[in-house]
Amino acid sequence: MTTNPAEILSDAIGAEQVLTGEALAARNPGYCEDSLGAQVLVRPRSTQDLVTICQTAADNKIALVPHGGLTGLVDATASHMGEVIVSFERMNRVLRIDPAQGIAVVEPGVTLEALTDALSKHDVICGVDIPSRGSCTLGGMVSTNAGGARVLRYGMIRQNVLGLEVVLANGQILDMTSPLLKNNAGYDLKQLFIGSEGTLGLVTKIVLRLWPAPKSLSCALVACDSFDHFSQLFERARHVLGARLMSFEAMWPDYYRLTTSQPGFGAPPLGADHGLYGVIEVSGADEESAQNALMSLMEPAFEAGLVADAIVAQSEAERATIWRAREDSDAIEHLHETYLSYDVGFELRDLGPFATALVDNFASRFPEITPYIFGHVGDGNLHVMYGLSHSEAANRDVYDALLYDTVSGFAGSTVSAEHGIGLEKRAYLDRSITPQMLDVMKSLKRTLDPDNILNPGKIFEL
Ligand SMILES: Cc1cc2nc3c(=O)[nH]c(=O)nc-3n(C[C@H](O)[C@H](O)[C@H](O)COP(=O)(O)OP(=O)(O)OC[C@H]3O[C@@H](n4cnc5c(N)ncnc54)[C@H](O)[C@@H]3O)c2cc1C
Repeated sequence: MTTNPAEILSDAIGAEQVLTGEALAARNPGYCEDSLGAQVLVRPRSTQDLVTICQTAADNKIALVPHGGLTGLVDATASHMGEVIVSFERMNRVLRIDPAQGIAVVEPGVTLEALTDALSKHDVICGVDIPSRGSCTLGGMVSTNAGGARVLRYGMIRQNVLGLEVVLANGQILDMTSPLLKNNAGYDLKQLFIGSEGTLGLVTKIVLRLWPAPKSLSCALVACDSFDHFSQLFERARHVLGARLMSFEAMWPDYYRLTTSQPGFGAPPLGADHGLYGVIEVSGADEESAQNALMSLMEPAFEAGLVADAIVAQSEAERATIWRAREDSDAIEHLHETYLSYDVGFELRDLGPFATALVDNFASRFPEITPYIFGHVGDGNLHVMYGLSHSEAANRDVYDALLYDTVSGFAGSTVSAEHGIGLEKRAYLDRSITPQMLDVMKSLKRTLDPDNILNPGKIFEL
């Protein structure tokens, strides 16, 4: 009897669904360089295929590593010899769009961009939008509880999933696809799988809550002298704009200079010597009402000295330029051989002090390295990136430790506000959860996946 995972899976679901060798090696590993380490990949077409895959894997104690669009940033898609990758690329159909009820039902391999295109015909949107939209899949977004720049308005994926279908490690289908917004029939089991990074079950169907597409968006790039002014502006924005406030994003000066001085960007829209930069986006029933709403925030804020300078986008092209300044973190690749990136979270009042403490800590210990800081201030979530040479990156433990030691200095902080734990942050998970929480997480994992075959080793080791 063979013990070769490729042969076992081929016998179970057909060789056509299994990739190995050249065909697999030629694929793009995405943002995790060890994604393709398993050297065997299966491509189910249906939930039933996945049931067969899981039953076969359970019988033969083969570990399964789910892959969506491979845009995850914490090495949660890394795979190793002896394991089998499950790619959801063939389960990529939008099954239902019901704009009246405000729901969509999709398979996990649908990309966010494909869904957004399909929804645009019906004048509705998915509440969560992230810059990796061209490649990231709904299955990956559910499994990482993706956030993005509109969490302030619509919440994270967790708040936008009405139902799920999941295949468990033993091949059992857990049908939790009721689309009801209000449903208090026992434990809300689907929430367990959201953000669990493929370690508790494989997501095969998603029922999403949809929102009416904003009729018009108005966007401003603002410069403030200090974080204190910026957070006062945020407080005003929430009160003045209410549900019309879509995004409230921040860029510290080094990040602003990085994205606005890259080749092809043109001149930075605002001078580069302010204390902090922000992107504020507001929705309205039409162009005029969106602009008026934005100005009802901006004009008094100017008079109060909270805003030092600003540009309000006058066209879709200008709006895109402002968002490019905020979103184009890949600009770091123009300046550095490689980089590290982090996604940490704090109470609002701690965001400014954290950024100051981090810049100071780096200036005193590693003055040659610049921390680029930006993020979703409205959700208490900052991203930090360091550009490094390959030889510096070999020493990454030192930089990780300095970052997470600085984070841990702030009560209630988290080492992951968005991207999850994967392999990358396992060593720091205990900074954000208690030992009792870790025990409960491990016992849930043992209950749902007793043989530890679903994405083993991710988040924590059993
Ligand atoms: C430029 C860029 C910008 C980004 N911006 C944001 C942002 O603003 N907010 C944010 O939250 N993230 C962001 N990300 C991170 C990333 O895009 C998200 O984590 C995204 O949700 C991952 O989706 P994916 O399909 O690529 O998943 P993958 O990377 O393929 O997988 C991610 C995790 O989900 C698991 N998984 C995938 N599919 C399934 C399934 N069907 N069932 C069970 N488990 C599954 C994988 O095993 C892995 O643990 C960004 C990434 C990039 C590269």
